[in-house]
Amino acid sequence: MKLTNTYRTALTVSRRLHKPSLSTTARNLSSSDRPKHHAPTSFATQCATLYHPSPKANRGLAPPIYFGSTFTLDDADHGARLHDKKEAAFTDGDGFVYSRWGSPTNEACARQIAALEGVHENGGTMLFGSGMSGITSALMSVLKAGDHAVFPYTVYGGTHEFLKEFAVHWGVEIDFIDGAGKQGPEAYRAAFRDNTKVVYCETPANPTCRITDLRGVGRVVDEYFGTRENNPNRPWVMVDGTFATPYHQRSLDIPGVDVSIHSCTKYLGGHSDILAGSVSSNSADFCHGLAKVQKLITAPLNPMDSYLLMRGIRTLDVRMQRHGENALKVAQMLEDHPLVDKTFYPGLQSHPDNTGDDQCLVADAFRSGRDYAEDASTMPQTYGGMIAFIVKGEGDIALERAKRVCEGLRVVNLAVSLGSVESLVEHPASMTHAMIPREDRLAGGLDDGLIRISVGIERASDLVEDLKSSLDRVMESETQERVA
Ligand SMILES: *Cc1c(COP(=O)(O)O)cnc(C)c1O
Repeated sequence: MKLTNTYRTALTVSRRLHKPSLSTTARNLSSSDRPKHHAPTSFATQCATLYHPSPKANRGLAPPIYFGSTFTLDDADHGARLHDKKEAAFTDGDGFVYSRWGSPTNEACARQIAALEGVHENGGTMLFGSGMSGITSALMSVLKAGDHAVFPYTVYGGTHEFLKEFAVHWGVEIDFIDGAGKQGPEAYRAAFRDNTKVVYCETPANPTCRITDLRGVGRVVDEYFGTRENNPNRPWVMVDGTFATPYHQRSLDIPGVDVSIHSCTKYLGGHSDILAGSVSSNSADFCHGLAKVQKLITAPLNPMDSYLLMRGIRTLDVRMQRHGENALKVAQMLEDHPLVDKTFYPGLQSHPDNTGDDQCLVADAFRSGRDYAEDASTMPQTYGGMIAFIVKGEGDIALERAKRVCEGLRVVNLAVSLGSVESLVEHPASMTHAMIPREDRLAGGLDDGLIRISVGIERASDLVEDLKSSLDRVMESETQERVA
């Protein structure tokens, strides 16, 4: 930005007019980093002016929530400098200019998630207004017409809808594959093309918690396309790790993985009170493109929700441990219940990816996050809070039973979403996926009798009792109906 001489003169004059005053307000504001203005004396200007607390306010342990779209500048050159900067995940010491480029509470929270994700110095984390906003921003930042991308069938419903309703119309070619289990990496490899630009994983998968072998995927991408150092056109490997959180799974630690995505609406927020999404990467190039999308198309997470997300994260470690301990007890009860056909929980030996050998995907997936190595003796290994189970019966019988089991719960709440302190249950066939033709639903692994539970941090016995009684009551009522 070039300043004309006239503009420069005008600025100098106006700066002289705004000499520091020694009024009380001005003294309170005397922190050196705030431009000095007259203390307003007219009513209208007093109304229009913002008043700030003493600079010592920043000694509050909790960070302030910085509302505000814009920031005062030292001088015009400062403004020019901030506008001129390459988009980046985090601001430097030069500060903020306009909230679409990033803002303080958002950045504080993003830095906390970057720490949990183990993001390196040149990388960053960016926060969005929802998980979907993060996912679509990440995809839009690297995909253009003529590119190809590979996704798993089990990808989150919203992501699938975005691909079908938008990405394909923008000229992006999409292939869906079965990425689960030990065969997953080869299924990915078989779909690669020269124009593949995104290799997308979602693990653990919804709702059965099947695991993708991320190490294997990173390896086949490196083998086929070369490493990122050798091939700048190598596809971006992205992982939606919402179900695991960085507590269990630090995707960026895995060689070949470029981007880690979370719907922070779920476990990271943890209290069902915000929508938010995070995208992290160690690549400065990726972060630059992502920040451009955030600045121009989507938007950074707002200050209030950034604060709530930070507040939620402060208890993530203890919440995740309890979610996992509770879920194992619930899963064990379900597995033994006569009305239950199948239970999917990574902590059960019956889970298809819990092979118990030294290539056990479950053990690997749930161990990379928190400091398990050091705490192994005192903290039992846990496997998250998501359980799916299928009630016995064919077609409509299973559908009706599952509905009644869900509606009969008195502690667990009937609601979509997951990852909160309170337990939630949903029946996809009659709720979220009721509009989808039955064959398509079944092909996607959503049986008529499948129920998904997000196990909360309530007392475990309350949850076990609640689910068991509801299942028992459905069985008893059927016996009575038969007798009658
Ligand atoms: C909920 C969810 C999303 C979408 O997140 P929103 O915050 O609802 O936009 C994406 N991926 C997974 C795995 C999810 O569970």
